[in-house]
Amino acid sequence: MPEDCIFCKIAKGNISTKKIYENDLFLSIPDVNPRIKGHSLIISKKHFDTVLDLPITLGGELLDCIKNTSLKLIDEYHASGFNLINNNFDSAGQVVNHFHMHILPRKEKDALGSIF
Ligand code: AMP
Ligand code: ZN
Repeated sequence: MPEDCIFCKIAKGNISTKKIYENDLFLSIPDVNPRIKGHSLIISKKHFDTVLDLPITLGGELLDCIKNTSLKLIDEYHASGFNLINNNFDSAGQVVNHFHMHILPRKEKDALGSIF
């Protein structure tokens, strides 16, 4: 694990933040710079640089965290949909080099509009 990895510090509890959901391998937290209300992140508890480094055996726990976090955000923000985004490597806009997924709760005609 890189010494200065911010998401490792959060996962270890060295930086306190609200947890939306967690299981043995993943947790979800609010994004510190939300692009829209409720913008949240799923992060792995262990350090992996990108999705390519995640063992496939972790897929079930990842899906569990995605589903439970999304359902909670839909409920809390009265959303009617959500986007899941995962940036990998610099060219794709990855800034924090610790595996994470963005969850963006969405409403009809909200400020984000069409992402693709
Ligand atoms: P990415 O471009 O996919 O690497 O996005 C990294 C995301 O992490 C950005 O949306 C940041 O706002 C978010 N972020 C950075 N530091 C923190 C932190 N301490 N707590 C929550 N979110 C963070
Ligand atoms: Zn890390």
